[in-house]
Amino acid sequence: MKLYIISNRLPAKACKEKNGTFIFSRSEGGLATGLNSLKTTDEKHWIGWPGICVDKKEDEQIISEQLEKLNFHPVFLSCDQYKNYYEGYSNSTIWPLCHYFFAYTEYKNCFWKAYQEVNALFCEKICSIVSADDYVWIQDYQLMLLPGMLRKRMPHLRIGYFHHIPFPSYELFRILPERGEILQGLLGADFIAFHTHDYMRHFISAAERVLNIDFQLDEIQIGNRVIRVEALPMGINYDLYHSVSENPEVQKAINRFQNLFGNHKMILSVDRLDYSKGILHRLWGFSLFLEHHPEYLGKVTLAMVIVPSRDQVNQYAELKTKIDEEIGAINGKYSTIDWTPVCYFYHGFSFEELAAMYFVADIALVTPLRDGMNLVAKEYVATKQNNPGVLILSEMAGCAVELTDAIQINPNDIEEIEQAIVKALEMPEREQKNRINHMQAILSNQTINKWAADFMTEWNDICSKNQRFR
Ligand code: UDP
Repeated sequence: MKLYIISNRLPAKACKEKNGTFIFSRSEGGLATGLNSLKTTDEKHWIGWPGICVDKKEDEQIISEQLEKLNFHPVFLSCDQYKNYYEGYSNSTIWPLCHYFFAYTEYKNCFWKAYQEVNALFCEKICSIVSADDYVWIQDYQLMLLPGMLRKRMPHLRIGYFHHIPFPSYELFRILPERGEILQGLLGADFIAFHTHDYMRHFISAAERVLNIDFQLDEIQIGNRVIRVEALPMGINYDLYHSVSENPEVQKAINRFQNLFGNHKMILSVDRLDYSKGILHRLWGFSLFLEHHPEYLGKVTLAMVIVPSRDQVNQYAELKTKIDEEIGAINGKYSTIDWTPVCYFYHGFSFEELAAMYFVADIALVTPLRDGMNLVAKEYVATKQNNPGVLILSEMAGCAVELTDAIQINPNDIEEIEQAIVKALEMPEREQKNRINHMQAILSNQTINKWAADFMTEWNDICSKNQRFR
């Protein structure tokens, strides 16, 4: 038996050099790390887009041969398909809807058509390589039709699905013209899991009301199949983050940052560029803090890391301009010769540098308006050793359910952000450590490995139940 992970992108990226050859870079994200550590005898394979659009069959052949050595199987898409399926339906229709940005949701026939087409291409690819007794684990909102498409082609295949973003309440989800098809697609899986109980509840109520079906608690029987729904919060590679200060590269970066920020408090914020992350609200809150607390001027710096993302989508480009303006306004107003209130980075950092920032930061300010989970908050907490630190966390992040020892705020309330910053700056060291310790106990238990193992256990359980019907 083999385990096939299906995701929009493979954990490796092909890139064409000027001389026409291809180079490949591996990206070991949290998901790949967690799945690699899964204790199973099943051979692991990955199916997804290789990060490049090529138009020659020979190029496809070269890329496939290289990737298949790693058990990675590429699904090739044309530039138009990728644009309309990924930037279009996935990120301009589903993403804003699932993050409650209803007004940002775009409906275009060409988006939906490409989404169906690409899900069907993934289905073809899977059917051409998997056997009936293999496990096919589909990841995320770009592939919601795939479970249903696969089920039609291979009725006995074991199909699992994990939804990494929020699932909105029925009142929002019903707005989607293709709500029925999407829900039918998801119900092709045997096991469907979400980060939180609320997302799971929203999915069940949307399915019941749109499709006129009835769940018995977390299960439903459709035809001769039982489908189970569950809440499984994704964790991080806790040991990796908790031991960063032992890494010489990280230690060097820690020394550098401590020299730079030594005299004043450092508030850290790290996100991909996204309107769901509440970046402007954070800046407004910080600006209010500076205005109302002149005693902290020159003593506190906000280090703001924004990783470029989806800048081909209109709202993202506009957001970037607004962020640049707001940071310019704060720095223009408050900077002195030897102090800049917002240290702004519009690029990603290496793991070592990011880990060092987590380690050094006195406060992590995480203020999404909506976020499926938010791993940055978990990574910040895990990185702390015996050094203090305070997490300010939006109650709209999926991880707020687990990280109850953070200072939780409603990011729509700018004054609450301001007050939380003051509370964090004034929190006694002992209380900071106590809160971090409590949160670390939770994170060291619910790791990425445990998440993947729990998913497999429950999925196996429901698949064995379904065997009886075959
Ligand atoms: N990250 C990174 N380099 C950076 C900034 C962030 O690798 O310069 C990583 C970070 O460690 C985290 C991920 O990006 O694992 C962001 O995940 P999160 O769940 O917070 O947000 P998402 O981008 O998935 O919405």
